[in-house]
Amino acid sequence: MDIQLDGKVALVIGGTRGIGKESVLSLAKAGAKVIFSGRSANNANEVIAEASKLGIDVSASVFDVADIEATNSAINKVVEEYGKIDILVANAGINPIFKRAEHVTPEDWDHLMSVNLRGLFFAIQSAGKHMLKQGNGSIVSVSSVTSVKGTLRGLPYVATKGGMDSMTRTLALEWADRGVRVNGVAPGYIETDLTQGMRNHDSLNDMMLSKMPLGRYGKSEEIASMIVFLSSEASSYITGQTYIVDGGYSL
Ligand code: NAP
Repeated sequence: MDIQLDGKVALVIGGTRGIGKESVLSLAKAGAKVIFSGRSANNANEVIAEASKLGIDVSASVFDVADIEATNSAINKVVEEYGKIDILVANAGINPIFKRAEHVTPEDWDHLMSVNLRGLFFAIQSAGKHMLKQGNGSIVSVSSVTSVKGTLRGLPYVATKGGMDSMTRTLALEWADRGVRVNGVAPGYIETDLTQGMRNHDSLNDMMLSKMPLGRYGKSEEIASMIVFLSSEASSYITGQTYIVDGGYSL
């Protein structure tokens, strides 16, 4: 299927590295005007340079999604500048806590929530208000297969992703009759900075690979293609769903 996003305006929250970066490039290759965010201007400039080598023009907006005011004003600025927002990819995510549930602190919990769930919800709300006014829009959140499978030493992360899946269903219900679709992608284990530690740890890496029927980690492009599909009219009859893309890990 040839997916065309010509004339669409897309914002990728957390588009400077990994899955987000590939989503930026894939959405732009499909024809969308893409604006992406991250906290690091250096990372953002690298993406702009990489896109430019591919003949693609993308724009960056540097803000921390945990800062609700900064996020809201950046989203408003996108709409002021480009006249609308058709696609939001809520991708930014962190997972710095690696400890058993009995050792999780309130600070750990709040840190994860502030980015992965609270930050992304208010970004979705901010973009969603514009989409509701326009009467159309597509929102794609990036969850994780761990939200259905669970994982050891990652309880706050998993809780944010489970919350994201519930949010996806409820937002879809609330906004379906006003033209806004809300879906999610739940990746398995993908070759990005987030899984670098695991992939560098020989025995852990072997154990993880043994659980992957396709015998390898996924690539960011393999998640980005699902994000592009859900962003586009090719998925016009889909809302409220979170699709697992995990090489069979969850089987
Ligand atoms: P990554 O390589 O670490 O990239 C994370 C992205 O999020 C970067 O662009 C980063 O930009 C941005 N980000 C992080 N915190 C932010 C903040 N507070 N404000 C704004 N942007 C922020 O991660 P990834 O592996 O691509 O993961 C992307 C998403 O997929 C996450 O939601 C993650 O939970 C999910 N996921 C990943 C995997 C996997 O195996 N990799 C599996 C399941 C789910 P800056 O550093 O420039 O701020």
